[in-house]
Amino acid sequence: MSEVKVYPPPKMVERKCKCCCKSFQARAADVKRGWGLFCSKSCKAIKQEQKTHQHRDYTRGYWDRQEAFEKGHVEPTFSNAHQFSNEEHDCNKD
Ligand SMILES: [Zn+2]
Repeated sequence: MSEVKVYPPPKMVERKCKCCCKSFQARAADVKRGWGLFCSKSCKAIKQEQKTHQHRDYTRGYWDRQEAFEKGHVEPTFSNAHQFSNEEHDCNKD
């Protein structure tokens, strides 16, 4: 029981973060997969948000509606909209 399996350290390559331009070490296997573009998860999140604006728009839209709802300006339409799209889907099937 003295044999200990030693895994070789992953091959690392130097990369430049696409967000903050900082040099960092990424695993070569990850780079091969198209990963290793960012030095950290937060940099990845920032860059992806800049690219798509999806997360920010969604968050802002949600809070706008939530705020408006709390002030009594709009009806809560989340569940209604969902039901409506389901109805539409059934109609198409017929
Ligand atoms: Zn970075």
